[in-house]
Amino acid sequence: MFTTFSKNTNFMTNVLEYGRIILRLIWPILLVLALVVNNVSPAQAISLSQELPHRKVIVVDPGHGGYDLGAVGPSGLAEKVVTLSVAHKIKEILFGTYEVHLTRDDDYRIDIEHRTAAANHYRADIFVSIHAGGGFGHQGRGMVIFYHGPGTGERPMSPRQQESSWKTGEKSLPWDSIQHAHRAKSKVLAKTVHRHLLVKLNPVDKGISEAPCFVLRGADMPAVLVEIGHLSHPADEKELRNPVVISAAAEAICEAIKEYFRKFH
Ligand SMILES: [Zn+2]
Repeated sequence: MFTTFSKNTNFMTNVLEYGRIILRLIWPILLVLALVVNNVSPAQAISLSQELPHRKVIVVDPGHGGYDLGAVGPSGLAEKVVTLSVAHKIKEILFGTYEVHLTRDDDYRIDIEHRTAAANHYRADIFVSIHAGGGFGHQGRGMVIFYHGPGTGERPMSPRQQESSWKTGEKSLPWDSIQHAHRAKSKVLAKTVHRHLLVKLNPVDKGISEAPCFVLRGADMPAVLVEIGHLSHPADEKELRNPVVISAAAEAICEAIKEYFRKFH
């Protein structure tokens, strides 16, 4: 009886020991399988494990959505579609390197102040609002990067964006001055995004501009609004229909974000 028990105990000990060895051997395989299932490359996995303790947080805001189409191109392309495509692409590119949140990930409308609130809620290190609007008529075109400030009066926000924020009925929110503390870094971010977009897209260039941007003013982190084109212009609309252009714009913004963090980490 004792012998049998001892044999059983030895048997169980051996089983457990073999189990431990097998687990140790297959653990890397299980890890790789889990990463493959979750569409994470080994390079991303290494980067993930290295950066997890202090991963930067990016909040990307695809402008407009739902019944708020934004600008609509001469042949019908809506700004809300373009902005969401760029935002999805940015999230895809930065996945694994940074923590990325979108203020909306589908076709629905959210108020401007909720977009800003999302950036603050996630304690974003950077907030990027994406637009591709235009003014009245079909004359203006090109790219412009805004950061928030009183502005020089040279290039006010598009009437559509103004209209969206006026609808809230809030002219002077208590958080009006929050972005002011980040103005210098927002300007650096705007310059960096601008430079990378110039390289990738070679657009009609309207440079960077300081202006009252309602979506940025309550953001408690460096923040920019990127107008990647003027959808109301036929030539810009044609460009923005091209998935290659959308990808290039997203890549440029991602490169700029990475460069910014190399400077301010
Ligand atoms: Zn817009």
